[in-house]
Amino acid sequence: MIPLLGSAGRAALARFARPDTLLAFDYDGTLAPIVADPQRARLRPRTHTLLARVSERYPTIVITGRSRLDLLRRLSGLSALEVIGNHGLETAGANRLEYVRRVKSWHTALARELPTIPGLVIEDKRYSLALHYRHCPDPAAARTVIRAVAQTLNGVRRVGGKSVLNLIPAEAPNKGHAVLAACARRACARALYIGDDETDEDVFILKRPATLLTVRVEHDPESSADYCLRSQEEMDPVLAFLLERSSRTVGGGQACE
Ligand SMILES: [Mg+2]
Repeated sequence: MIPLLGSAGRAALARFARPDTLLAFDYDGTLAPIVADPQRARLRPRTHTLLARVSERYPTIVITGRSRLDLLRRLSGLSALEVIGNHGLETAGANRLEYVRRVKSWHTALARELPTIPGLVIEDKRYSLALHYRHCPDPAAARTVIRAVAQTLNGVRRVGGKSVLNLIPAEAPNKGHAVLAACARRACARALYIGDDETDEDVFILKRPATLLTVRVEHDPESSADYCLRSQEEMDPVLAFLLERSSRTVGGGQACE
């Protein structure tokens, strides 16, 4: 993986810093630092300011594993941002009742089949479930049990994450589909995507280096992303770089719509 803020990475970023580039970001661990209680995840004030300005210059989208409504509440004051929830499947106005019914049936089955695991939190996001085992006394053992039970559910895709197992309708659009669809919808010629987790690999594996710049937060030799940030704190310099470049180009730097 090439460091995005090294000389080769900056050159690539400069090539993508154009008004018809879609900027697409994950939220937790990417725009916002990971915290012990996910309910407390927030943007740093500096990130909020930069993101507000960047989203006025480029078409900008956040694709999160959270529900769309949850993220919209966390991004108040950032009205230029488009938000897609539930790992790419929950777009604005989404009403996929077949998924909702399936997720509800999984929740019922898990309540019946899972043994009592202290500290386990099942988060129902309507279109997917997230089983958080960060606070279990033995997280590895909890993970083994919930993976085994989740395997028995119908029509499920299991996607791991940082102390979480996500259960998503198997055939639903993922983050990769969401990035490509947003590019088409916003008439963008290329996209930058930054994410930090297993669910973001759905974008990284698309492997379209001429039109898709893929960046993983923290180096991971198993990732399919081409570039990496050393830590989440490097997001602010990336946003500042994109902002600075946008004012240098295209007289006034208007974003394409
Ligand atoms: Mg993340």
